[in-house]
Amino acid sequence: MPELPEVETTRRGIAPYVEGQVIESISVRQPKLRYPVSDELTALCHVRVRKITRRAKYLVFEFDHGALVGHLGMSGSLRVVDSCVPALKHDHLLFHLAGGKQLRYNDPRRFGAWLWCDDIASFPLFQKLGPEPLSEAFNGAYLFAQSRKKQSAVKGFLMNNAVVVGVGNIYANESLFLCRIHPTKAAGQLTRKQCDALAATIKTVLGNAIEQGGTTLRDFIQPDGTPGYFAQQLWVYGRAGEACKVCGSEIQSAVIAQRNSFFCPQCQKTSR
Ligand SMILES: [Zn+2]
Repeated sequence: MPELPEVETTRRGIAPYVEGQVIESISVRQPKLRYPVSDELTALCHVRVRKITRRAKYLVFEFDHGALVGHLGMSGSLRVVDSCVPALKHDHLLFHLAGGKQLRYNDPRRFGAWLWCDDIASFPLFQKLGPEPLSEAFNGAYLFAQSRKKQSAVKGFLMNNAVVVGVGNIYANESLFLCRIHPTKAAGQLTRKQCDALAATIKTVLGNAIEQGGTTLRDFIQPDGTPGYFAQQLWVYGRAGEACKVCGSEIQSAVIAQRNSFFCPQCQKTSR
């Protein structure tokens, strides 16, 4: 599933081809995604994209008269191709750019979404989102304040979009390992020092993933290329039964807050 780094990588990959450019029209070949594709998309005609921004895992195409909000769902991807290239089976949206290129949205599982909104400031899906993890608003003091009196496991706490957006399962697992915090620890029991470490580590882990994602940018302009998400250096995620890279203990897994969690019982003691 595309996580925040992949979405940011996508944004950076398509921005040079789309920002400041005119979308002549959009062809909707399959409107049945997670939510029906907004009717406004097919009505768009000769509109200039001011810029493409990202909020949580949403891409926001900003126009003078509103915004188009895209979500890649489980399997969505965007790429820019010459318009003469035949569309693929799961290319559901074709953005016809002035100058002959097309931005295409491909999504085999169709969990993505493309929604129009007249005013991005009041977009309903953005109203309850916490701060961006890479912003200054997200820091140790903020995490400490948010976590007071919370009995829930720190793992689920970090993955709660109302606390902070875009910390997916992989990054929550990896960050907790690097901070030597057990995933089931009650959020309210975190010390200020641990909150400082967690906030800093989450920024580093996500930042590194975005940096590595940069190496796949060429995929966005290959006619038949779906983005090959980068193979990451993982400490614990997906490594149950394998040896901890720090101490050699066997990495364990457990379901916490409905998600698979991975941790080292030695490096991440429950008492810590
Ligand atoms: Zn270990």
